[in-house]
Parts: sequence; structure tokens; C-alpha cells
Amino acid sequence: MSAYVSKSKAELQSLYEQRLSSHRGFIAAGKKLDMSRGKPSKAQLDLSQGMLTRECPHIARDGLDCRNYGQMDGLPEMKELFGALLNIPGSQIVISGNSSLQMMFDCIALGMTHGYSGCEPWMKQDKIKFLCPVPGYDRHFTIIEYFGAEMIPVRLNGDGPDMDTVRRLAESDAQIKGIWCVPRYSNPDGLVYSDEVVRAFAALKPAAPDFRIMWDDAYFVHNFKGERAGLLNIFDACRETGSEDMPLMFASFSKVSFPGGAVSMAAASPRNIEAIKKRIFSQTIGPDKLNQLRHVNFFKDAQGVLAHMKKQAQIVRPHFDLVLNTLDARLGDKGIGRWSRPEGGYFISFYALEGCAKRIAALCLETGLVITPAGATYPYGKDPYDSNIRIAPTFPSLEELAAAVDTFINAVELASIEKLLK
Ligand code: PLP
Repeated sequence: MSAYVSKSKAELQSLYEQRLSSHRGFIAAGKKLDMSRGKPSKAQLDLSQGMLTRECPHIARDGLDCRNYGQMDGLPEMKELFGALLNIPGSQIVISGNSSLQMMFDCIALGMTHGYSGCEPWMKQDKIKFLCPVPGYDRHFTIIEYFGAEMIPVRLNGDGPDMDTVRRLAESDAQIKGIWCVPRYSNPDGLVYSDEVVRAFAALKPAAPDFRIMWDDAYFVHNFKGERAGLLNIFDACRETGSEDMPLMFASFSKVSFPGGAVSMAAASPRNIEAIKKRIFSQTIGPDKLNQLRHVNFFKDAQGVLAHMKKQAQIVRPHFDLVLNTLDARLGDKGIGRWSRPEGGYFISFYALEGCAKRIAALCLETGLVITPAGATYPYGKDPYDSNIRIAPTFPSLEELAAAVDTFINAVELASIEKLLK
């Protein structure tokens, strides 16, 4: 099979008829499929079921009765567990409820209402902007949109954001207050930031003294192929350059145990941690320490978490293999799309011919296949190339996934041939 661009109009027309016929077949079959949800499958969730059924003490290591109020920044043993996995001292960590996204929201809210580094709160400043590496995580963009700040897309290279652009923008515009980063197995490309990129972040001299790097290490233990990707410690790198206050790190056990009932954390410099604790202190009399204890009791230590994630990898990997192998086999030489090859995380990033992503999503919907809305991976839902589509392979069964990929590839072909015929 040769690249579609080199085909004659008649050949394309004939292919178009074939694909349209398949498309009609998918519609007639009336299947309801979904490749949009970055959620663990039931089999993954079942691996943590023991946490709910096993007897768990309610007394923490230091004798604290976890059934009661108190210890508002989290149990030391829970901090140590995160700390061991992320190479951060527990003193730099605050533990919260089940959502790290909520902690991120709250840190942006902190900048808005109280400010960072002794600067005016962001809401009192003229206008604020955030850098958003693209394609990125839509819920990060939603937070910024909620607060009415402007978002500036920055291209992602294979090893992280384009740091020349980040440097040029952040160092010249004091209205730019931060940047979103998913440094390991990024959502949706699954790429890992290189040491060079992390060092370039640490070396930034932003025009705004209250500039913050939102370092969302959501997929810190989520490798499903090969070894867990290493990531240079952003705090160590920033300490060396004297910019320790710049990064705010986030992670959670959402996709380690249960997305609906896990534990999240933020890590930051002593100064930032104080500000975060002060805010939490006015919000709650204490987090769900029983759940923290349940997690520590179940996983025991960092090795326990890594062993658990190996079991998850065995479940997750066939889902990614199925999608990648099918894309390779069916689209590999047609020149109408390219895709990422992640070794961890939850997504595959598909790049269609420019101007085709919305059409592909619409065609999929006609057949009953839901995919992440085209554009969702860009601020304001606007992909200037109308090209990127996020594929989430984990949740459907392998049988459903095979049917979904089949339908998706047909839609890609149909939309691409339509474009080429124009
Ligand atoms: N950050 C990223 C990059 C994600 O992809 C997700 C979920 O898909 C989250 C955060 C959500 O994390 P949490 O469940 O801890 O709020």
C-alpha cells in the first residue's frame, strides 16, 4: 500500500467508496463504543480491592487516632511514601483528598487571592497569562479559563516544551505567571521531559517574580513498558539555581488505587508549603487520614507501589499494543496520520492530516464511537491545525477496543480521502 497522496483521483475515489461502505456498516451495526476515557479498567481497580476488604488499623504510626480530626497536612507515613517515590523529603509535602487536580486549582486560587513571593495577588494585577504546552491536558486549561487568565500555547518537542519559546515569553512578559507541565508520560503524547529541559526550567529567569511551574507528575509510576522513566528532580535543579520557589509539584494515587478514592499530594519549597498549609488550615480540620492509613497499610512502601504498578502494566500494555499494532498495520504507510508511542501514562496522541480531526470525531460519533472531542488538547478547545486526537485505550475491554480502533481507522481514512479529493 503506497501513500495516499501519490494515488490518482480515480484510485482515491474507489477507496472512498469502500471506506464509506464500511462506515455505513458500522452505523448499521449500532455499537456503542468509547475510547475517550482515561480511566483504569475494572481489572486494574480490582488489584486494589484488598484495600477495602482487609482489616486496617485506625491508629497511625505516631499513635494518632485517624478516626478523629487533626493532622491537617497529612500523615507522615503517607508523605514518606510519596516522598520515597518522588525523591522528596516528607517535610516538603502536603497530603490532601482524592484529587490532585483540586490541589492544582487551589494553588492557582492561592495566586489569585493572596499572591506568591510577596507580590500582589494575581487578581489585583492588570492581566495574567499562563503558558500551556500543547497538546496538553484539557482540565489544566479549564482551571485557567475558570479564573479568566489568558492561555498561550507553546509547542511540545519530543523531550518537553520548546524551551526557547518558554524562555523568550516568560523572561519578557511579567504578565505570564506560570506554565503547566506533565513531565512524565505527558497527557496525551506520553513523552518524558529530558534532563536538559528540566535544567532549562530551573535556569529560567521569568520577568514575573511570582512565576510558578505547575509540575503535574500525575503518571509518576505509570510505566507499562520497560523501566520507569527517570525524571530529573525539579527541586534539586531549582535549588542549584536559587529558584526553589518556582515549582509546585502534584501527584496522586488516583491511577494507582482508585480514581474515586485515592490520596493526592502537593510538594513545594518551604516558603510555598507554608502558604499552602495556611490555606488548607482555613479550609478543613483534617483530611481523610483513614484512607491515607489504608493506602500505607496496603502498599507498605515504595517497592510495594512499584510491584503493584507492574501488575497494572500487565493489564494495560495489551491495550496499548492493540491500538499501536493496528495503527501500524493499517495506517503505517499511508501518510495520513502519525501517532505517539508511549511507554507509560494513559494516552496515545494521534495526529491526523491538518483539518481532519473534527471530521474524524464527527464520523466516529455517527457510528456510535465516542472519542475525546477534537481540539480538547488545546487551550479554548482550539487546535489551530485541527489535527490532534487523544486516544484512551485502558478502559474498554480488548474486544471493544479492537472494534473501536477499527471504526476509528476507517473514519481517519474517510476524512483523509475527502481532504485529498478536494
Ligand atoms: N493530571 C493529569 C495530567 C491527568 O491526566 C489527570 C487525570 O487524567 C489528573 C491530573 C487527575 O488527577 P487526580 O485524580 O489526582 O485529580
